[in-house]
Amino acid sequence: MKEIRMVDLKGQDKRIKSEIDTAIQEVIESTAFINGPVVKEFQNDLENYLGVKHVIPCGNGTDALQVAMMGLELKPGDEIITTTFTFIATAEVIALLKLTPVLVDVDPDTFNINPDEIRKAITHKTKAIVPVHLFGQCADMDEIMKIAKEHGLYVIEDACQAIGSEFIFENGERKKAGTIGDAAGVSFFPSKNLGCFGDGGAIFTNNDNFAKLMRSIVNHGMTIRYHHENIGVNSRLDSIQAAILNVKLKYLDKYIKARQEAANYYDKKFAGHQKLKIPFRVKNSTHVFHQYTLVVDDVDRDELQKFLASKNIPAMVYYPIPLHLQQAYKDPRYKEGNFPVSEYLSKHVISLPMHTELDEEQLGYITNTLLEFIK
Ligand SMILES: *Cc1c(COP(=O)(O)O)cnc(C)c1O
Repeated sequence: MKEIRMVDLKGQDKRIKSEIDTAIQEVIESTAFINGPVVKEFQNDLENYLGVKHVIPCGNGTDALQVAMMGLELKPGDEIITTTFTFIATAEVIALLKLTPVLVDVDPDTFNINPDEIRKAITHKTKAIVPVHLFGQCADMDEIMKIAKEHGLYVIEDACQAIGSEFIFENGERKKAGTIGDAAGVSFFPSKNLGCFGDGGAIFTNNDNFAKLMRSIVNHGMTIRYHHENIGVNSRLDSIQAAILNVKLKYLDKYIKARQEAANYYDKKFAGHQKLKIPFRVKNSTHVFHQYTLVVDDVDRDELQKFLASKNIPAMVYYPIPLHLQQAYKDPRYKEGNFPVSEYLSKHVISLPMHTELDEEQLGYITNTLLEFIK
């Protein structure tokens, strides 16, 4: 059996190695390492894939979220509602810009931000909602967009884990994750569903004015060289990374399908087990399975992880500590017990190997080994 990895980048890249090598070599030959034509090419191809008006490539997913917030001209003291059960980057950029993060709990089935909790958290200072499409399934964008409209709030989607996922509105309309709100951030970190060979990211928006400002912000706040109209940052997608991403974008739907097939296999083996809750699949979103995350009950989760490791099966906990209990984010507004769903999940979730290269032999071994421990 092939070695089981949490993410098998080597196996994936081997299949497209010659295409990738050619793309990289072309950039090296051209020496257009920054803002070369291939960056624009990738931008256009991604805009077409997503059906979004503007893709603004940038340095990483964290920057994408930061630039989105800067481009919406959010100001210190503005309250930004987001989930406490996410990767730190979501709240980090809110704090860095001196905006006020207002944390809310998640839905116990989907792990995504709970719209009822968003409503309760709105004050006269609230300016934006940042839903995270956690693990690859969209948050309830029908409800979130409704709330935003009622209260005049921006919606910034953290789509870092959900590129290619589709939300299906009540009226049947389908839109891709990251193209629904006012702006979105996505990450091309190597282990993300569309990953490059280093750091990379992008902002999406359908608004021409926001796009113009955001495009200037990622490049030192200038549109004409050495004329700085805005305070910006230096956050660009390298040409080499764009060239790699443009090759991989062609395979994204295939990659998504491979992940979904692995998830279906896991589901079939685990469904109905008393101590295991398989990922809940909502009707209004596809799931691109950035992670396959179980909730275990009446099982020592950390012992399970150790047991799997002893059988050469990596498994990870995303995320062991909700944001409101993180040291750097200690805040008199929050204490343990405030967000019971997120706190419960942080103690009971476990994510299994999930990538495009899992074969039946590996999946069979993983599921049988896990069931052997759970009984
Ligand atoms: C990966 C990730 C980010 C940050 O992306 P980077 O490219 O690593 O900066 C932000 N939010 C979520 C939910 C993520 O998974």
